[in-house]
Amino acid sequence: MIVPDHLMKLINSGQLIKFYKSKEWRELRKLAMKRDNYECQHCKLEGKVTTRETINKHGRKTKMDVNHIKPVKLFPHLALSLSNTEYLCVYCHNIADGKDEMIKKEPKFVNEERW
Ligand SMILES: [Zn+2]
Repeated sequence: MIVPDHLMKLINSGQLIKFYKSKEWRELRKLAMKRDNYECQHCKLEGKVTTRETINKHGRKTKMDVNHIKPVKLFPHLALSLSNTEYLCVYCHNIADGKDEMIKKEPKFVNEERW
């Protein structure tokens, strides 16, 4: 079971990937995808339907992912809260992550280690 203390240890030791591989997160992810009807929630706000079957301008299917609305690193206690998740396409996810970068203290390093 993942608890905030455990999560903080993973974050502080750079092992957050372990959280994303956990059974708890994978199950929550599935719930979030289903709740969001497998559609990107940000595109939906703009009246567009984007799913993993949507073909992008490069002729490939769109990558989709479940995003934490409030970032795990700042809100570890919300990491497994369904209401803190949203299903997004990779484009909206990048934009959402960019916003997270802006609220960090060292904007100089925004372009490093994006992935
Ligand atoms: Zn989108």
